[in-house]
Amino acid sequence: MNFYAFHIGDYASDTRHLTWLEDIAYRRLIDLYYIREEALPLDMRQIYRLIVASTEEQREAVDTVIGEFFTLTEKGYQHDRCEEEIAKANNKKAKASIAAQISVKAREISSAENRRLRIKEAREKGTHSKEEWIAVLDACGNKCVKCGTDQKITKDHIKPVYQGGSDSIENIQPLCSSCNSAKGPENQDFRPTNWKESVERSLSERLYFVSERSTNVDEYINERLAPNPNPNPNKKQTTAIPNGFAEFWIAYPKKVGKGAAEAAWKKHRPSLQICLNAVAIASRSADWTKDGGQYIPNPATWINQRRWEDGATHIPIDGKPVLPEFMRGAL
Ligand SMILES: [Zn+2]
Repeated sequence: MNFYAFHIGDYASDTRHLTWLEDIAYRRLIDLYYIREEALPLDMRQIYRLIVASTEEQREAVDTVIGEFFTLTEKGYQHDRCEEEIAKANNKKAKASIAAQISVKAREISSAENRRLRIKEAREKGTHSKEEWIAVLDACGNKCVKCGTDQKITKDHIKPVYQGGSDSIENIQPLCSSCNSAKGPENQDFRPTNWKESVERSLSERLYFVSERSTNVDEYINERLAPNPNPNPNKKQTTAIPNGFAEFWIAYPKKVGKGAAEAAWKKHRPSLQICLNAVAIASRSADWTKDGGQYIPNPATWINQRRWEDGATHIPIDGKPVLPEFMRGAL
């Protein structure tokens, strides 16, 4: 230790009888004890050297003081008061270290808790599916939209979550981890301007691809949503009733009123396959493509009005979906 309490009164009353040289020797021995934090060496020559007692007189003073104030033990010459002070100081140090560790832990917990709450708030404002994220990645060339690397791609909330940004796909772009952590408070969307069209196209293509692989879309979706044979017990099971609504929602080009749409879907229970066909056909119609798609009905309205029946003439007898003209060459 490089600091100790020196009680002048105690010292003076214990050492009043010492000669000038003995007093110097005693003070040097105490300093040495505290610096080394252990009993003084058994070898007297070593003690003389450590406190620079070079004359015969000085060494005699050292011998006197050692004999009077120190106890010979296996470890060396021990001093009770010094041992007590060293133990006290170490105890204090240990307590301070525990307090510091507790404070670090508390800060970590509070920051994890804050992050959890912010993510929860962001999800209340909007969410995105895994399919949507993959489609955005595709639309952005599977690269960091800022620097162009394809390494360590992360989801960046364009308007940061701590600023009240939502977790919907509108607010998510791929950034590499270094661009993401270097990001300041600016809310810059680096995605290509046509990202949204591209996402919608790839989502509906994906569904068609799915329906081509299986003769029965509902069967395929059932397979896909079948419980994992080796589920992670800590992970909340999110597998929904495979009623096809999730796939319909991905395919439907206007994402408003999801709750109402889901309720309508549960009420009418339409065939997913027929709906996907009808949506794909309607998506190419003049009504749905003009003026930025503003005449596309809300999904709940579309379901409640049984609009899939509009495209009923396009459903072939074998139940396989009819690809719209623009997609036939692509698959
Ligand atoms: Zn980057």
